[in-house]
Amino acid sequence: MLDQPIKKVVIVGGGTAGWMAAASLSQFAAGKELSITLIESTAIGTVGVGEATIPSIVHYNHTIGLDELDFIRATRASFKLGIQFEDWHKQGEQFFHPFADYGINFNGIEFQHYFYRLKKNNPSEHLHDYSIACQLAKHNRFAQPRENPNNPLADYSYAYHFDATLYAKVLRELSLSRGVIHLDEKVAQVNLREADGFITSLLLANGQTVEGDLFIDCTGFKGLLIEETLKTGYEDWQEWLLCDAAVAVQCANTREPTPYTRVTALNAGWMWQIPLQHRMGNGYVFSSRFLSKESATETLLEKISGTPLTQPKPFVFQAGRRKKVWNKNCYALGLASGFLEPLESTSISLIQTGITHLLTFFPDMSFDPAMINEVNRRHQHEMERIRDFIILHYKLTQRDDTEFWRYCQSMTIPDSLQHKIDLFKSCGHIVQHEPEAFEKSSWLSIYHGFAVTPERTDNRIDHFKDADIKVQLEKIKASLAEAGQQATRHEDFIRKHCAAPDFE
Ligand SMILES: Cc1cc2nc3c(=O)[nH]c(=O)nc-3n(C[C@H](O)[C@H](O)[C@H](O)COP(=O)(O)OP(=O)(O)OC[C@H]3O[C@@H](n4cnc5c(N)ncnc54)[C@H](O)[C@@H]3O)c2cc1C
Repeated sequence: MLDQPIKKVVIVGGGTAGWMAAASLSQFAAGKELSITLIESTAIGTVGVGEATIPSIVHYNHTIGLDELDFIRATRASFKLGIQFEDWHKQGEQFFHPFADYGINFNGIEFQHYFYRLKKNNPSEHLHDYSIACQLAKHNRFAQPRENPNNPLADYSYAYHFDATLYAKVLRELSLSRGVIHLDEKVAQVNLREADGFITSLLLANGQTVEGDLFIDCTGFKGLLIEETLKTGYEDWQEWLLCDAAVAVQCANTREPTPYTRVTALNAGWMWQIPLQHRMGNGYVFSSRFLSKESATETLLEKISGTPLTQPKPFVFQAGRRKKVWNKNCYALGLASGFLEPLESTSISLIQTGITHLLTFFPDMSFDPAMINEVNRRHQHEMERIRDFIILHYKLTQRDDTEFWRYCQSMTIPDSLQHKIDLFKSCGHIVQHEPEAFEKSSWLSIYHGFAVTPERTDNRIDHFKDADIKVQLEKIKASLAEAGQQATRHEDFIRKHCAAPDFE
């Protein structure tokens, strides 16, 4: 009996997590005897933010069969080459975190070693000259990689900014066309089997009972199934990630959408500006220990450039992770599985890897603990690696103008991160534990943006002459600058290929 296949999957929640799960599972279900039901309560609503992504979303959309340009048009999206950081290292300074790689690795030795060797005697060298994404962003340009074979634009990574509500709508239409059953009703009670505490069914507010074999909890921060019912537990990371609140407001665009997100450090946190085709999303993520909601709202409204289109919306959250994302026959995705503040826009990519893990280890009725343990181990690993990457942005600041930034500079950080920073400072090598959401080039851009310079470079390049390294690097620089000039303005690209009807 126990090795029987699972026949009924019930997803609770119709936010980004719920509909991403429905889209992927309905594709997975093709040819199988597997029914998928999604229950959401539009009366409760969704979190309504989460509009900036990292490059893995391109792969996700492709996998579920969305055409890129149709998706951009339907979600009023823009392209995202990376993130512009302003006032993080010191006030008045900025740097760019591109998603594309830097330079080329020669002789099996990573590019940064050549770069820092050259920079030692040429202080005016800039890392951003060696990234196609930085070149494009500098001129507000974009090109779809496949348009340009045989040059630096042929293959590079990028992501999107999109309207989260419209994205959920696209995924819903796709899921319904693949047979997902949709119920708009509140779950009033979760029923458990007495013998082992597995979930057997959900009682809805209208009196209907929905039975299932596997339940996917996409109910947001509260984790109706995984936490409120199964009491799985939460690991708190607020000692390192102080921000526990945000206020968000949408405003009219006052200029063409940039192909990047802007994140600006403020007195007790930071502000995001996410450009879409039809509006700008803005938010102040802050620590309630150092700033009130009222002051954060006032600052945000002062700093936005266009007319506000919505009322400021407050959020509270706790940085950390659910101790198990898979507990018994309940699998948590999205905010129900934990939350890391949105500085590097990682939540949607975590939903994606959560789905991949579920499909890779899709259980039968035996719910083999070996598979459950492996998925929980992978989730923990991934969350901890992203946690460290985000803490890095706070720890490396030289800002000492407010209590918040002084705390960040002096806080003790996880040993895993301290080791990474120490090694880079010592010899320019970047530690990466596979698989990790952020590539080595992302770590390099943050080290470089915060002026962390290695004391020495890889011994194996000692015998190269500076002049020879310079010749090679100049060639890369020139070819990237030229390619950057060839691309179309981002705004023109959208207008020509994927503008929503109201794009002006
Ligand atoms: C301030 C902020 C900014 C963010 N920015 C980004 C970003 O830029 N990039 C990024 O990747 N992520 C970001 N995120 C995270 C992102 O918003 C979420 O990961 C994403 O929206 C997924 O949310 P969700 O689907 O898990 O939850 P929600 O959107 O909260 O959906 C929960 C669903 O559960 C349903 N529900 C709840 N209770 C019941 C019930 N009893 N019965 C029936 N249905 C129920 C609700 O109706 C809803 O449909 C941000 C988050 C915050 C707080």
